[in-house]
Amino acid sequence: MPELPEVEVTRLSFADRITGATVTGARLGKPLRWALGCEPSALVGRRVLGVRRRGKYLLLDMDQGLLLLHLGMSGSLNFAATHPDPGPHDHFDLTSTQGVLRLHDPRRFGAVVYADSADAPTAIKLLGGLGMEPLDDGFDLKLFHAGLRSRSAAIKQVLLAGDVVVGVGNIYASEALFLAGIRPTARARRISLKRATRLHAAVRDVLARAVTKGGSTLRDFSNAEGQQGYFQLEAMVYDRQGQPCKVCGTSISAIRQGQRSTYFCANCQKG
Ligand SMILES: [Zn+2]
Repeated sequence: MPELPEVEVTRLSFADRITGATVTGARLGKPLRWALGCEPSALVGRRVLGVRRRGKYLLLDMDQGLLLLHLGMSGSLNFAATHPDPGPHDHFDLTSTQGVLRLHDPRRFGAVVYADSADAPTAIKLLGGLGMEPLDDGFDLKLFHAGLRSRSAAIKQVLLAGDVVVGVGNIYASEALFLAGIRPTARARRISLKRATRLHAAVRDVLARAVTKGGSTLRDFSNAEGQQGYFQLEAMVYDRQGQPCKVCGTSISAIRQGQRSTYFCANCQKG
């Protein structure tokens, strides 16, 4: 599943190239998770002002309205001068004076949704519940700590929920908690300011490193087919059950939390 770093690298892969383009056509394939919300032909003639990211949504701002794009479980976006004829899994093409943006999505949990503005109900419905952006300056430590203090669930579940901070998916949650020395099962409301400070820094660190790593493989990423977009960190704990901890040598543990696998070092993550 594309996580925040993959989505950010996707944004970087085409934002500059599509900015300033005028839309010349739009084509829909099979239905995606949500309907587009306008006639594809209504997009023709609009100018692309830029591409932002909010959580795992890409916001393609136009001189009138915006498109919200989500990659779902298996989606990928590819911007190129031209594309071959659409295949069975190519469900959206946005043709412009500067190239064609194509959504390839075999499982069709992705979406392209039109909204008149970022304040329109359609946009609010999708973006309104999202927590702070971990890579922005607005990722405030005190608000982060206050968000954790207000939740009784396990810290890993609170990270995954995305309403305190967005984009910390399963891999990055396990890795960040390891770096911060916090047991994934610890109650969020019992995390001290000192530990929240370490976790705040760890979340930024793992996500920023993944974006950097993805950026360095950008060319492969944008040209890839199938399982494109996966670039994993040199994991300290994720998917390393039974292997020695890279810090202390203790065998890495794996548990299930909310039907997702969680990995941790019982020695390095005591509390
Ligand atoms: Zn360890």
